Amino acid sequence: MARLLDGKAAAAAIRAEVGSEVRSMIARGAPAPCLAAVLVGDNPASRIYVRNKVKACQEAGIIPREHRLPATTPQSELLSLVRGLGEDPQVDGILVQLPLPDHISARAIIEATDPAKDVDGFHPINVGRLWSGRPGFVPCTPLGVIELLQREKIPIEGAEAVVVGRSDIVGRPMAALLLHRHATVTICHSRTRDLAKVAARADILVAAIGRPAFITREFIRPGATVVDVGINQVTDESRAVELFGDDTRRIEEVRQKGYTLVGDVHPLHARERAGAFTPVPGGVGPLTIALLLRNTLASARARRG
Ligand code: NDP
Repeated sequence: MARLLDGKAAAAAIRAEVGSEVRSMIARGAPAPCLAAVLVGDNPASRIYVRNKVKACQEAGIIPREHRLPATTPQSELLSLVRGLGEDPQVDGILVQLPLPDHISARAIIEATDPAKDVDGFHPINVGRLWSGRPGFVPCTPLGVIELLQREKIPIEGAEAVVVGRSDIVGRPMAALLLHRHATVTICHSRTRDLAKVAARADILVAAIGRPAFITREFIRPGATVVDVGINQVTDESRAVELFGDDTRRIEEVRQKGYTLVGDVHPLHARERAGAFTPVPGGVGPLTIALLLRNTLASARARRG
């Protein structure tokens, strides 16, 4: 039976660390860090993400500033808001919740964000800093994965790491972070030939694909560490039985809520074959917000000298 990597506990520890550093910053007479969160439209998942981020800020003593704009907001208006936040001395971090409505270019908005306040680490300057090994903001989800591996004492140096997925938000920065920590890194994607065979080489396998339980037993080397970034809904009861076996709470959840969450990795196969793995929920998910708080604190510190 594989060991569970407890992302919830690691996230709680990071949030407590941030909270105590914010308190000592305030005790020294400095203003509390401030994170501006911009939400365009009313995508239900995005609303929940922003709400959770705002709540986490409040708990850590970071001042959240919420900007809610209608889905019809012109791109020019969003650009001037983001530029204005960049110039606002009270704002330390800027977060524009993705996805944006179709008529708005996420790239244009990201490029208009002040790189010194880009706590999501998406601006090309921060991407370049990451790949060239210079200090800068790093996307929160892959940074959270590294934190978890380090806290759980999973060796990275010299390990074979396979990252499935090459998005700007997860796969690519994940690969860069593993490489900087001296793993031998392979990045896979939808055109990779014989993906299962490549994945099965991994000591550390990271799945960031967006396909429910795509990674099955033949992708997992026995004893590997499996990090499941995926968050997908399963709505079908018989599929839930196939994925969770005798875990009746999951089946109950489908009956009551209409869905249960599953990652990109088949949970029963991971449990039976991996050495350690991150559950969904409670694995990588909680770390993303924790690292957003830490990035905001880092920005506030740097801006206050
Ligand atoms: P994207 O859709 O941006 O990227 C998915 C990647 O997976 C792409 O690189 C794609 O390849 C690859 N892929 C898709 N299908 C296959 C396939 N059949 N075989 C191999 N590779 C494939 O997703 P994200 O990176 O944004 O997110 C991935 C997952 O992580 C999602 O489930 C998302 O919900 C979750 N997520 C979770 C977060 C958290 O906080 N835990 C935060 C962010 C995301 P190609 O490039 O060739 O198209």
